[in-house]
Amino acid sequence: MEAVEKNKEYTIKIESVSSDGSGVGHINGLTVFVPQTAPNDTVRAVITEVKKSYARARLTEVIASSPDRQEADCPYYTRCGGCQLRHIRYKKQLEIKKAVVENAMRRIGGFNGFEAEEVIGAESPLRYRNKMMFPVGKTDGQTVCGFYAPKSHDIIPLGDCALGDELNTQIINAVLNYMKENSIEPYDEKTHTGTIRRIFTRKSFNTGEIMAVISAGTDNLPNAEQLVKRLRSISDRVVSIILNVNTGRLTLGNKNITLWGSDVICDTLCGIDFEISPNSFFQINPKQTEKLYRKAIEFARLDNNTRVMDIYCGIGTISLCCAKTAKSVIGVEIVRQAIENARENAVRNGIFNAEFYADSAENIVPRLIARGEQADVVILDPPRSGSDEKTLTAIIKSNAERIVYVSCNPATLARDTRLLAQNGYKLTRSAVFDMFPHTCHVETVVLMERQ
Ligand code: SAH
Repeated sequence: MEAVEKNKEYTIKIESVSSDGSGVGHINGLTVFVPQTAPNDTVRAVITEVKKSYARARLTEVIASSPDRQEADCPYYTRCGGCQLRHIRYKKQLEIKKAVVENAMRRIGGFNGFEAEEVIGAESPLRYRNKMMFPVGKTDGQTVCGFYAPKSHDIIPLGDCALGDELNTQIINAVLNYMKENSIEPYDEKTHTGTIRRIFTRKSFNTGEIMAVISAGTDNLPNAEQLVKRLRSISDRVVSIILNVNTGRLTLGNKNITLWGSDVICDTLCGIDFEISPNSFFQINPKQTEKLYRKAIEFARLDNNTRVMDIYCGIGTISLCCAKTAKSVIGVEIVRQAIENARENAVRNGIFNAEFYADSAENIVPRLIARGEQADVVILDPPRSGSDEKTLTAIIKSNAERIVYVSCNPATLARDTRLLAQNGYKLTRSAVFDMFPHTCHVETVVLMERQ
């Protein structure tokens, strides 16, 4: 068959969507990925990369449009790296995510004919984010703030991003105006000169309150009271204005100075209160998180005799939601600061049957099991890389009745559940959640029961 050529334009019929949100079609038997296309589109696309088993292409024209295609309701969509599925109707996005999980479970997990019980979408695919981070820099000599373009550090100046709160644009403009008035330069990543690096906002969905964080390479912003005045005049919802002192290479520095208002904002998940400081990890889409946690807890079938182990527990959100019903909970997490937050959150909510360990799962879980800690239910919520053999082997040894696996990456979920299935656990329940509408990300919860 004729080889597919780089830089040549082809007509491609799109058949499905891959896990990174690209449309998938074939030319002369070779798989081709084309971003910003939809199943049943017929498109023209120029090949940008050819590998042994696949090629990538850039969309040039939609010849015949899929019935699932919609006008992307964002003027930045084709230039911004944030969303991948915005040109596809929301209902279809959910079907695509379900299929991505099912494919991984069948192909990688060996669960033949696997079908997820349900896919749980968001009530609204917009304004769902409680946290937004906007880099500040220079484009064509102008100070700008917005988003990075895909795979680059070029800043696309942004109006409103409809995934976050409406006030973000006004917060950005207030900071840019303050910078102009006081001749403050943005930080330059290449020369390490300038001052302001990022604008970062957090929102409590429970109260509507907003924290505005200005990340800068100084602990002394000139005329900071002018900045405070500008930000406070936007809305009463702005309750906290923080200077994050960042002289290192990380996204945020470790030192925070409260310029005005509260040091933290408070939000609630499943009836538990959490205090969130600028650097804390907190789930991005709290409405969908509650649905996800409720499902995980339903799968766990807790009662006041159940001993739970929550591995990769973060600030203890799932642990504390379980603690109300269970006999006891052990939480394990590698980030020490997160474990401190988990302990504080337990006290704040009057929860005394939860214990937390700051250590890596692969290190502490085998030791906890070896010293005889019993867990009837193990909950796992690992990062994208999934769990590991040491942790999973210890769980298998522990003879836990039920394992509830929460995953943000279908490929590693499939790999890890395969190992559990080969060692006496049967996959009995599953649900797919859309935590990040318009993006290619997908979350899954499965229940494995000991046979
Ligand atoms: N369950 C929490 C957090 C899930 S995110 C929630 O719902 O909010 C995954 C967590 O795993 C992160 O907090 C990360 O710091 C932690 N983590 C990553 N690698 C780890 C490891 N090897 N051992 C323990 N925790 C780890």
